[in-house]
Amino acid sequence: MSVVRPVTNRDNAYFFEGTSRGELRIQRCNACGVLRHPPGPACPDCGALDRGHVVAAGEGTVFSHVVHHAPQVPGKELPLVIALIDLDEGVRMVGEVTGVPPEGPDALQIGDRLAVEWNVIDEELTLPIWRRVEEQG
Ligand code: ZN
Repeated sequence: MSVVRPVTNRDNAYFFEGTSRGELRIQRCNACGVLRHPPGPACPDCGALDRGHVVAAGEGTVFSHVVHHAPQVPGKELPLVIALIDLDEGVRMVGEVTGVPPEGPDALQIGDRLAVEWNVIDEELTLPIWRRVEEQG
């Protein structure tokens, strides 16, 4: 399948190494412990270059979202629902949400809970995809 492949580099390689193992990784400063996403070479809090990561639980809350109607994205059926997700660990991440209609009463809402799933593209690439956690009762 043809998809938009993320550009991997030294700053984000840990993230895609994680997704291929079913881990949603968040960069962590080894000096002060601050979590950050998207990743970068230096800690925005203390400036340290010593980077590690933690594995997120894989759940979060919709901060905002957009419905992407155009342009066409290779390997994707439009429209796409793209959300800004506040992970429970306290960082914000962009992600595609599957299984929700783009509009209407069942459309994604701010505050909806999401859980990550894994979209295995091929042996080299696995991407996170998010699905709404339906309220219990
Ligand atoms: Zn730091």
